[in-house]
Amino acid sequence: MAVDKKQITIVGAGLTGSLLGLRLGQRGYKVDLLERRRQTSENAEDSGRSINLALSRRGIDALKVVGIMEDVAPLLIPMKGRMLHFENGDKEFSPYGQRAEEVIYSVSRRDLNRLLVTRAVEAPDVNVVFEQKCTSIDFDASRLTLEDVGSGESQDRSFELLIGCDGAGSKVRRALMEKTGGISISDFLDHDYKELEIPSGEAGTWQLEKEALHIWPRGEFMLISLPNLDGSFTVTLFLPKMGTPSFESLADKVSVEAFFEKTFPTARALMPDLVDDFFCNPTGRLGTVRCQPWHLEDKCLLLGDAAHAIVPFHGQGMNCAFEDCVVLDGLLDTHNEDWAAVNVQFSKHRKPDADAIAQMAIENYTTMRSTVTDPKYSLKKAIGFELERRLPELFIPRYSMVMFHDMPYSEALEKGEIQRTILNRLADGIQSIDSVDWEQAEAMVKSRI
Ligand SMILES: Cc1cc2nc3c(=O)[nH]c(=O)nc-3n(C[C@H](O)[C@H](O)[C@H](O)COP(=O)(O)OP(=O)(O)OC[C@H]3O[C@@H](n4cnc5c(N)ncnc54)[C@H](O)[C@@H]3O)c2cc1C
Repeated sequence: MAVDKKQITIVGAGLTGSLLGLRLGQRGYKVDLLERRRQTSENAEDSGRSINLALSRRGIDALKVVGIMEDVAPLLIPMKGRMLHFENGDKEFSPYGQRAEEVIYSVSRRDLNRLLVTRAVEAPDVNVVFEQKCTSIDFDASRLTLEDVGSGESQDRSFELLIGCDGAGSKVRRALMEKTGGISISDFLDHDYKELEIPSGEAGTWQLEKEALHIWPRGEFMLISLPNLDGSFTVTLFLPKMGTPSFESLADKVSVEAFFEKTFPTARALMPDLVDDFFCNPTGRLGTVRCQPWHLEDKCLLLGDAAHAIVPFHGQGMNCAFEDCVVLDGLLDTHNEDWAAVNVQFSKHRKPDADAIAQMAIENYTTMRSTVTDPKYSLKKAIGFELERRLPELFIPRYSMVMFHDMPYSEALEKGEIQRTILNRLADGIQSIDSVDWEQAEAMVKSRI
């Protein structure tokens, strides 16, 4: 049966909004995509957001659905595992997975967003309007107010279905909560982050192993770096807001120099502009947004960070947001484009998954900054890989379930909990993987999972 397609208004042409706009345009919808930034988006609002991102299976699947993966591929650098940099200067490589395809990819946020927006601009059914900031929404009248960022003038505009893809500080979310009496909670960590840089070496070479995500784990805090195509690395310091050391305690040039010399000497040696970068670059906050509801009848829906911003330690915020678009796309098929039903089902099925990845992302901060240095962690990881080799249908390490598979995040969380107790039991009282009783281990997995 032919369906009368709604006119769709998306607020925010970031990663989520531009991908969603493209997909809905491909489905035959007329889409207005409203973005407050300028079209050539090298502006101040981008600074402070991560410069590069880790793209993994869920995000790649979504890019394939809109047929853009071939254009994204040249922007990617594979990262096959973590390169750990210990305090004594030793390094250790720890692979993320055990199959050739089990890698994640470093990609520039700006390049990826620019590609998606360019495709949206080119799409015949997508009308991208820049420098338009949504300032208020009247759901009863189905109208929103847009402020022209250049002139400061406001104008009203009607909408049929409004989709909020306007990120963690979403205006659409705030209006939806007001209208429905819903609840939105933003939980901020006691830690902030700051981006720094390791420039490229001679002739654009990479000064650290290129195909790895580098971590300098230091217990309460850490430094990480991801490679860029131009040979540089984007470095991120995650550190408590207060105490010693903290962003508060690193208040002057001398303390920053001393802290890096003492704590991260190998990275410091590669960062000639450390002090300038430290004081010029903004300090970012790290938070989780949980809200309910995500929709209003067939009039409004939230997607991506607007619905469920998470901390970046599992590298899943964008991947989860891209997966939102795929899930929504599937529901439009299942429910014959009946948006009232689609919105209900989307919220119902996706919310537990968003809550699950939010939890795993927070847990992964402790893993990255501290647990990775514990020999027991390496032992359990090795046992997990061996169980996956022996029982691939039953046992997949939690990190792999999240990064390399497309099972719901909530299932990965649930199975991961059971696997954690199994690994704790198997690793208890032994120092080496050679001491594992594999018959007992396999029996345990078969009976519990
Ligand atoms: C330090 C850091 C590292 C990260 N690393 C990763 C990673 O490795 N992998 C990963 O998957 N995710 C990562 N993320 C998360 C990822 O950045 C987000 O999940 C992703 O950007 C969400 O996309 P979005 O389009 O929903 O929101 P945003 O990217 O925030 O885009 C929102 C868009 O809406 C526009 N907008 C906002 N308000 C309005 C308004 N009122 N009117 C009009 N337009 C508006 C904005 O200008 C913007 O273009 C990281 C995040 C941080 C902070």
